[in-house]
Amino acid sequence: MLCPCGSQTDYSLCCQPLHLGVAHAETPKQLMASRYCAFVMDQADYLLATHHPDFRGDLTREELSESAQTTAWHCLQIVDATVTGDVGEVEFKAWYREDKRLQALHERSRFSREDGLWYYRDGEIQPSPTLPGRNDACLCGSGKKFKRCCG
Ligand SMILES: [Zn+2]
Ligand SMILES: [Zn+2]
Repeated sequence: MLCPCGSQTDYSLCCQPLHLGVAHAETPKQLMASRYCAFVMDQADYLLATHHPDFRGDLTREELSESAQTTAWHCLQIVDATVTGDVGEVEFKAWYREDKRLQALHERSRFSREDGLWYYRDGEIQPSPTLPGRNDACLCGSGKKFKRCCG
């Protein structure tokens, strides 16, 4: 199965080793993709484990799992990713379908590295993105026109 993060790689060679804890994200971008993928695959333990404890608040496994299960995730677009030392930022659009319409969570997230491991800290919600035009390239990265693909 192709990995839901959009890497065009098999899940078993992409985000699954991270979800299983046998490998660790090497960059904030990789962590972001694996966390999106964990929402798609309902891997709440991974979401909790990669959320920095100082920023987790009283978020629970159950809440994460519910949000994972009740959202019809569609695809992930990473817009920008930067790293400076042990701090990183990733801007992304996580597309999902609601009432058959594509919508996106557009966020700029902050990450930090502690003892060699990257953690998600928090993020700032960005303005909702607009959909591509019917003849524009599809947002899923297929290279097809939007109207012939996810539109
Ligand atoms: Zn992946
Ligand atoms: Zn598409």
